[in-house]
Amino acid sequence: MSNFRPSRPSGIKRCRTILATVLIGTLILTSVACKKGIQPTRETRFIMGTLVEIVAYPSSETTRAAVNRAFERMEEIEDQAYPDRSEFFLSLREGKPSALPEVLARVLDKALSVASESEGAFDPTLGRVVSLWGFDRNEPGIPADEDLAAALRTVGYRRLSVDSDGVVRPTPPGNPLWLELGGVAKGYAVDVAVAELTESGIQAGIVNAGGDLRSFGVRPDRGFWRIGIQDPDDPQGMLGVLEVDEGSVATSGDYERYFEKDGIRFHHILDPTSGLPVRNGIRSATVITRECGLADALATAAFVMGPEKGLALLERLEGVEGILVVDGEDLLTTSGVGGRIGFDRR
Ligand code: ADP
Ligand code: MG
Repeated sequence: MSNFRPSRPSGIKRCRTILATVLIGTLILTSVACKKGIQPTRETRFIMGTLVEIVAYPSSETTRAAVNRAFERMEEIEDQAYPDRSEFFLSLREGKPSALPEVLARVLDKALSVASESEGAFDPTLGRVVSLWGFDRNEPGIPADEDLAAALRTVGYRRLSVDSDGVVRPTPPGNPLWLELGGVAKGYAVDVAVAELTESGIQAGIVNAGGDLRSFGVRPDRGFWRIGIQDPDDPQGMLGVLEVDEGSVATSGDYERYFEKDGIRFHHILDPTSGLPVRNGIRSATVITRECGLADALATAAFVMGPEKGLALLERLEGVEGILVVDGEDLLTTSGVGGRIGFDRR
């Protein structure tokens, strides 16, 4: 791993000085005008509820065709990964075994491995609870206690098995299973888009799905990528800038989707034990690692686990770094944050 300091199992570091060297905004990232020289192809589409921008070098007809294919592959995942559109999800909700669409096999695998690493802080069976809050509807609201209690009885990432022939089975049989892959699918779709671009021979670029992003190759004008970290108190502003070689950055924040009632913010990152928006002081969790699907899920997991346990998880995992923004505290960072972060090319 080049330019990468191995993680230490040292627990928590409180670090004010890195502020200057760390943080940006994906906004800046993609809007910074290129210096003279090789220009990229740039295209934006609305996918998975967010603006996705692909920037790919060099600008050419071949690059434009590859960018188009990369978007199509993301749209394919969007078509399959969201419950209300898919027979796969609806059958599971009735407790019936259901054949896993091939395009979702690795998403579910990723979700289950992060569920197990985080001891269920990230839980892809939270669908019924997510649906009660309705953050994706125009008018989300606080669920009734009895509805929440009933929904929570369907939650538990061990309550399913995946056969070798790709059939997902609720456990025990007949148990309603409400899969929810919204905490990992977007990042995974970014990985798929990047794979499409690199397999098409594109030199360098970045796929940015509303702040969950992955860069690849050496940026022709300056060699590395600058990623902004949003300020939870002012999401238009930046806490600072992170410089990365190839790699992914994903953030879960309480400012992304929420509503307010009686002065209290209800946001979309939920505690699988209570079914309520997590309140542990964390405002945002940013994860830096090679794959965006993993970064996406780990950011949600770290947010749910809280400052101490979340940081310990990110520190323990090899090839993973993180930044937690916590109310009333300095930034918490894993030990590899500070210099440029790089990952092996494979
Ligand atoms: P975004 O999709 O806005 O980037 P995140 O990656 O932080 O946000 O994922 C939050 C989404 O994941 C929620 O909207 C919900 O669909 C789902 N979710 C919420 N809490 C959890 C959890 N504890 N485990 C797994 N998925 C969750
Ligand atoms: Mg995320």
